[in-house]
Amino acid sequence: MKVTFLGTNGWYNYDNHETSCVLVESKNYNLIFDLGSGIKNLNKIKFKKKQTFIFISHLHLDHVIGIHYLNSISNLGDINILLHKKYNSKFKEIFNKPYTLKYNNYKNKIKIIPFDEKKKPNIPINFTSKKLKHSDPSYGFKFFLDKRIISYCTDTKLCQNLFDLSSGTDLSIIECNQYKKKKNFHLSFEEINENLFKFKTRKIALTHFGPDDFSSVKQRYYKLKKEVDLNKNIKLFITKDFFSLKI
Ligand SMILES: [Zn+2]
Ligand SMILES: [Zn+2]
Repeated sequence: MKVTFLGTNGWYNYDNHETSCVLVESKNYNLIFDLGSGIKNLNKIKFKKKQTFIFISHLHLDHVIGIHYLNSISNLGDINILLHKKYNSKFKEIFNKPYTLKYNNYKNKIKIIPFDEKKKPNIPINFTSKKLKHSDPSYGFKFFLDKRIISYCTDTKLCQNLFDLSSGTDLSIIECNQYKKKKNFHLSFEEINENLFKFKTRKIALTHFGPDDFSSVKQRYYKLKKEVDLNKNIKLFITKDFFSLKI
Protein backbone atom coordinates (compact mmCIF):
# COMPACT_ATOMS: atom_id res chain seq x y z
CA MET A 1 0.00 0.00 0.00
CA LYS A 2 1.41 3.34 -0.99
CA VAL A 3 0.92 6.56 0.98
CA THR A 4 1.68 9.86 -0.76
CA PHE A 5 1.64 13.23 0.95
CA LEU A 6 0.16 15.78 -1.44
CA GLY A 7 -0.13 18.73 0.92
CA THR A 8 1.83 19.01 4.16
CA ASN A 9 1.08 22.54 5.35
CA GLY A 10 -1.49 23.72 7.83
CA TRP A 11 -3.16 27.15 7.65
CA TYR A 12 -2.21 28.16 4.13
CA ASN A 13 -0.06 27.15 1.20
CA TYR A 14 3.26 28.84 0.49
CA ASP A 15 6.52 28.08 -1.33
CA ASN A 16 4.89 25.23 -3.23
CA HIS A 17 3.81 23.54 -0.04
CA GLU A 18 0.10 22.88 -0.26
CA THR A 19 -2.38 22.34 2.58
CA SER A 20 -3.50 19.02 4.07
CA CYS A 21 -4.04 16.13 1.70
CA VAL A 22 -2.80 12.52 1.75
CA LEU A 23 -3.40 9.82 -0.85
CA VAL A 24 -3.51 6.15 0.16
CA GLU A 25 -3.55 3.67 -2.69
CA SER A 26 -4.97 0.37 -1.50
CA LYS A 27 -5.67 -2.68 -3.62
CA ASN A 28 -9.20 -1.78 -4.61
CA TYR A 29 -9.72 1.81 -3.56
CA ASN A 30 -8.03 5.15 -3.32
CA LEU A 31 -8.39 6.92 -0.01
CA ILE A 32 -7.74 10.59 0.46
CA PHE A 33 -7.35 12.20 3.88
CA ASP A 34 -8.58 15.79 3.81
CA LEU A 35 -9.27 18.06 0.90
CA GLY A 36 -6.69 20.80 1.29
CA SER A 37 -5.08 22.52 -1.70
CA GLY A 38 -2.70 19.51 -1.97
CA ILE A 39 -5.44 17.72 -3.91
CA LYS A 40 -4.26 19.51 -7.06
CA ASN A 41 -0.93 17.67 -6.78
CA LEU A 42 -2.81 14.56 -7.90
CA ASN A 43 -2.35 15.96 -11.41
CA LYS A 44 1.43 15.72 -10.96
CA ILE A 45 1.69 12.08 -9.90
CA LYS A 46 0.79 8.73 -11.44
CA PHE A 47 -1.89 6.69 -9.78
CA LYS A 48 -4.54 4.22 -10.87
CA LYS A 49 -8.12 5.33 -11.31
CA LYS A 50 -10.23 3.65 -8.62
CA GLN A 51 -13.31 4.35 -6.61
CA THR A 52 -12.25 7.11 -4.23
CA PHE A 53 -13.10 7.72 -0.58
CA ILE A 54 -12.22 11.12 0.83
CA PHE A 55 -12.25 11.46 4.63
CA ILE A 56 -12.57 14.96 6.06
CA SER A 57 -11.26 15.68 9.57
CA HIS A 58 -13.02 19.02 10.05
CA LEU A 59 -14.03 22.09 8.10
CA HIS A 60 -11.15 24.51 8.68
CA LEU A 61 -10.29 25.85 5.26
CA ASP A 62 -6.81 24.29 5.08
CA HIS A 63 -8.65 20.93 5.06
CA VAL A 64 -11.47 21.68 2.61
CA ILE A 65 -10.32 24.43 0.25
CA GLY A 66 -9.60 21.70 -2.34
CA ILE A 67 -13.30 21.33 -3.13
CA HIS A 68 -12.66 24.24 -5.46
CA TYR A 69 -9.97 22.28 -7.35
CA LEU A 70 -11.74 18.94 -7.60
CA ASN A 71 -13.15 19.54 -11.03
CA SER A 72 -9.67 20.02 -12.47
CA ILE A 73 -8.34 16.68 -11.22
CA SER A 74 -8.15 14.04 -13.86
CA ASN A 75 -8.04 10.30 -13.24
CA LEU A 76 -10.43 10.23 -10.28
CA GLY A 77 -13.21 7.66 -10.26
CA ASP A 78 -16.50 8.12 -8.47
CA ILE A 79 -15.94 10.09 -5.30
CA ASN A 80 -17.41 9.45 -1.88
CA ILE A 81 -16.77 12.14 0.71
CA LEU A 82 -17.10 11.09 4.32
CA LEU A 83 -17.40 13.50 7.16
CA HIS A 84 -18.90 13.63 10.61
CA LYS A 85 -22.66 14.24 10.58
CA LYS A 86 -22.07 17.37 12.67
CA TYR A 87 -20.46 18.98 9.62
CA ASN A 88 -22.71 17.58 6.90
CA SER A 89 -24.99 20.55 6.29
CA LYS A 90 -22.24 23.19 6.61
CA PHE A 91 -20.07 21.28 4.15
CA LYS A 92 -22.89 21.07 1.61
CA GLU A 93 -23.42 24.78 2.08
CA ILE A 94 -19.83 25.67 1.09
CA PHE A 95 -19.61 23.00 -1.61
CA ASN A 96 -22.18 24.96 -3.55
CA LYS A 97 -22.88 28.24 -5.27
CA PRO A 98 -21.94 31.06 -4.75
CA TYR A 99 -18.64 29.67 -3.34
CA THR A 100 -17.84 27.04 -5.97
CA LEU A 101 -19.52 24.59 -8.30
CA LYS A 102 -22.24 22.58 -6.56
CA TYR A 103 -21.02 19.10 -5.58
CA ASN A 104 -23.59 17.30 -7.71
CA ASN A 105 -22.55 19.20 -10.86
CA TYR A 106 -19.01 17.83 -11.06
CA LYS A 107 -17.79 15.60 -13.88
CA ASN A 108 -17.18 12.81 -11.36
CA LYS A 109 -20.11 11.53 -9.39
CA ILE A 110 -19.72 12.91 -5.87
CA LYS A 111 -21.58 11.45 -2.94
CA ILE A 112 -21.41 13.00 0.51
CA ILE A 113 -21.76 10.42 3.28
CA PRO A 114 -22.10 11.52 6.91
CA PHE A 115 -20.97 9.25 9.74
CA ASP A 116 -20.92 9.34 13.50
CA GLU A 117 -18.83 7.41 15.99
CA LYS A 118 -21.54 4.78 16.56
CA LYS A 119 -23.17 4.28 13.19
CA LYS A 120 -20.93 2.98 10.43
CA PRO A 121 -21.84 4.07 6.92
CA ASN A 122 -22.41 1.39 4.34
CA ILE A 123 -19.06 1.58 2.51
CA PRO A 124 -16.47 -1.13 1.76
CA ILE A 125 -13.84 0.59 3.93
CA ASN A 126 -13.35 -0.58 7.49
CA PHE A 127 -12.62 2.36 9.76
CA THR A 128 -13.24 3.86 13.19
CA SER A 129 -13.32 7.52 14.10
CA LYS A 130 -12.89 9.47 17.32
CA LYS A 131 -13.21 13.11 18.27
CA LEU A 132 -9.93 14.93 18.84
CA LYS A 133 -9.25 18.10 20.83
CA HIS A 134 -9.24 21.11 18.57
CA SER A 135 -10.72 24.62 18.52
CA ASP A 136 -13.58 23.19 16.46
CA PRO A 137 -13.88 19.41 16.74
CA SER A 138 -11.56 17.52 14.45
CA TYR A 139 -12.10 13.80 13.87
CA GLY A 140 -9.28 11.28 13.75
CA PHE A 141 -9.46 8.00 11.86
CA LYS A 142 -8.10 4.48 12.00
CA PHE A 143 -8.33 2.36 8.85
CA PHE A 144 -8.00 -1.39 8.39
CA LEU A 145 -6.90 -1.87 4.79
CA ASP A 146 -5.19 -4.73 2.96
CA LYS A 147 -4.02 -6.27 6.26
CA ARG A 148 -2.50 -2.99 7.33
CA ILE A 149 -3.65 -0.47 9.93
CA ILE A 150 -3.17 3.21 9.37
CA SER A 151 -4.33 6.22 11.38
CA TYR A 152 -4.78 9.85 10.44
CA CYS A 153 -5.00 12.40 13.26
CA THR A 154 -4.62 16.04 12.47
CA ASP A 155 -5.45 19.28 14.26
CA THR A 156 -5.45 18.18 17.87
CA LYS A 157 -3.84 18.65 21.23
CA LEU A 158 -2.53 15.60 23.03
CA CYS A 159 -5.50 13.47 24.06
CA GLN A 160 -6.37 9.87 24.80
CA ASN A 161 -8.29 9.45 21.54
CA LEU A 162 -5.15 10.34 19.60
CA PHE A 163 -3.26 7.55 21.36
CA ASP A 164 -6.17 5.12 20.96
CA LEU A 165 -6.36 5.70 17.21
CA SER A 166 -2.58 5.37 16.76
CA SER A 167 -2.30 2.24 18.86
CA GLY A 168 -1.45 -0.92 16.92
CA THR A 169 -1.03 0.83 13.58
CA ASP A 170 1.61 0.22 10.92
CA LEU A 171 1.60 3.93 10.20
CA SER A 172 0.33 6.88 12.21
CA ILE A 173 -0.03 10.18 10.40
CA ILE A 174 0.07 12.96 12.96
CA GLU A 175 0.09 16.72 12.78
CA CYS A 176 3.13 18.51 14.10
CA ASN A 177 3.96 22.17 14.17
CA GLN A 178 4.62 24.96 16.54
CA TYR A 179 6.47 25.01 19.81
CA LYS A 180 4.54 24.04 22.88
CA LYS A 181 2.21 26.84 23.86
CA LYS A 182 -0.28 27.01 26.68
CA LYS A 183 -3.28 27.93 24.61
CA ASN A 184 -2.73 25.78 21.61
CA PHE A 185 -4.88 23.36 19.70
CA HIS A 186 -1.98 21.72 17.91
CA LEU A 187 0.89 19.37 18.67
CA SER A 188 4.51 20.34 18.94
CA PHE A 189 7.40 18.10 17.91
CA GLU A 190 8.58 18.04 21.53
CA GLU A 191 5.19 16.84 22.79
CA ILE A 192 5.16 14.05 20.21
CA ASN A 193 8.69 13.07 21.08
CA GLU A 194 8.02 13.07 24.83
CA ASN A 195 5.06 10.78 24.29
CA LEU A 196 6.51 8.58 21.55
CA PHE A 197 5.88 5.32 23.41
CA LYS A 198 2.21 6.10 23.98
CA PHE A 199 1.44 6.03 20.26
CA LYS A 200 2.20 2.29 20.12
CA THR A 201 2.87 2.39 16.42
CA ARG A 202 5.70 1.35 14.10
CA LYS A 203 5.95 4.45 11.99
CA ILE A 204 4.95 8.06 12.56
CA ALA A 205 4.68 10.50 9.67
CA LEU A 206 4.56 14.13 10.73
CA THR A 207 2.62 16.62 8.62
CA HIS A 208 0.56 19.87 8.76
CA PHE A 209 3.47 22.24 9.33
CA GLY A 210 3.00 25.93 9.95
CA PRO A 211 5.03 28.76 8.42
CA ASP A 212 8.71 27.94 9.01
CA ASP A 213 7.81 24.82 10.96
CA PHE A 214 9.12 22.36 8.43
CA SER A 215 12.73 23.48 8.72
CA SER A 216 12.50 24.14 12.44
CA VAL A 217 11.00 20.69 13.10
CA LYS A 218 13.77 19.17 11.02
CA GLN A 219 16.41 21.03 12.99
CA ARG A 220 14.83 20.09 16.30
CA TYR A 221 14.55 16.50 15.12
CA TYR A 222 18.22 16.21 14.22
CA LYS A 223 19.32 17.99 17.38
CA LEU A 224 17.29 15.57 19.41
CA LYS A 225 18.50 12.60 17.43
CA LYS A 226 22.04 13.57 18.38
CA GLU A 227 21.17 13.87 22.05
CA VAL A 228 19.01 10.81 22.50
CA ASP A 229 18.84 7.88 20.20
CA LEU A 230 15.22 7.83 19.13
CA ASN A 231 13.44 4.63 19.90
CA LYS A 232 14.61 2.18 17.27
CA ASN A 233 11.23 0.49 17.12
CA ILE A 234 9.54 3.63 15.86
CA LYS A 235 10.46 5.27 12.60
CA LEU A 236 9.76 8.95 12.38
CA PHE A 237 9.25 10.71 9.05
CA ILE A 238 9.07 14.44 8.50
CA THR A 239 7.00 14.69 5.36
CA LYS A 240 6.90 17.24 2.60
CA ASP A 241 4.76 17.44 -0.54
CA PHE A 242 5.22 14.36 -2.79
CA PHE A 243 6.95 12.36 -0.05
CA SER A 244 5.70 8.79 -0.24
CA LEU A 245 6.19 5.56 1.61
CA LYS A 246 5.05 1.98 1.30
CA ILE A 247 3.59 0.12 4.22
ZN1 LIG B 1 -5.34 22.57 9.94
ZN1 LIG C 1 -8.02 23.05 12.28
